[in-house]
Amino acid sequence: MVSQTLQTDTVSAAPLCTDWRAALADAVHDPAELCRLLRLDPSVAAAAERAADGFPLLVPRPFIGRIRPGDPQDPLLAQVLPRGAELAESPGFSADPLGEAQATVAPGLLCKYQGRSLMVTTGRCAVHCRFCFRRHFPHHASPRTLADWEPAMRRLAAERSIHEVILSGGDPLTVPDEQLARLARRLAQIPHLSRLRVHTRLPVMIPRRVTDELLGWLRGTRLSPVVVVQVNHPAEIDTAVAAALGRLVDAGIPVLNQAVLLRGINDRIDVLAQLCERLADLRVMPYYLHQLDPVAGTAHFQVPEPTGIRLIAQLRARLPGYAVPRYVREIPGQTSKLVLA
Ligand code: SF4
Repeated sequence: MVSQTLQTDTVSAAPLCTDWRAALADAVHDPAELCRLLRLDPSVAAAAERAADGFPLLVPRPFIGRIRPGDPQDPLLAQVLPRGAELAESPGFSADPLGEAQATVAPGLLCKYQGRSLMVTTGRCAVHCRFCFRRHFPHHASPRTLADWEPAMRRLAAERSIHEVILSGGDPLTVPDEQLARLARRLAQIPHLSRLRVHTRLPVMIPRRVTDELLGWLRGTRLSPVVVVQVNHPAEIDTAVAAALGRLVDAGIPVLNQAVLLRGINDRIDVLAQLCERLADLRVMPYYLHQLDPVAGTAHFQVPEPTGIRLIAQLRARLPGYAVPRYVREIPGQTSKLVLA
């Protein structure tokens, strides 16, 4: 994935490196270093180096701190460690399984869903999830400056049926707050837009990303903000993550979670139930459990749909209805997700 950042037309006066930016810059890229930190056999690093070709390893240190040292099967490690299985070709798995190239209506702007549009705000992430459905996305073609976004803004202004914009990526919260605030102000000038959704893993990867400045522009826009995070396993939530999510909720911002059903990571009822309960305790609604999108290099994460349907039935038997996510699959060309259970 190519890193790029939304830039403003003017040079920012903000310091180059605030705290969360330092953590972002300090992320681990080298499989050998990751294995050293986690006391894993050097052969694991050698295999990861081969598998990382084209989609490099990237893990921030706060997330590494939650991985069990010495355990090559740790469910958090499995989300970030490149493995040889990624190099295998699998029938039905492709670079763009959701047809996002066809859904791109202006540079960086995707119209896939009824009433909503998605802006690929940046190609940069805090972590490279090995199952990412955009791991082959051509991020170099997306806008970098506010001026570059104008064709997308004109398109949004012309489409009166669009009421919600989703900032996606990459991870939009890798972009500095002052730049995101300007983008939000520009979007707020489009009268028929009423909601702004942010899809991000940053509050989980680097909890200190939930800054006063972030809360300030989210609360300050006339658009109703919604933040959607991604937590796939309960061990991802430590005290710092819980506090970061709490700050968002306390600021009056609805926070939802979308998880991906992943083989060997969260495809057991005890793990899913613990995840959903923990999220509900933190006032984060378990919103979606996604069936894996069939993107090339990820087939080893796939869980059969009947297993997912059975897991949701088991969750319903254990948890209150609001704590049970909808199990969904995205189908290219469909304007909403297919609810499987
Ligand atoms: S944070 Fe999101 S966009 Fe980035 S690699 Fe993970 S799933 Fe993909």
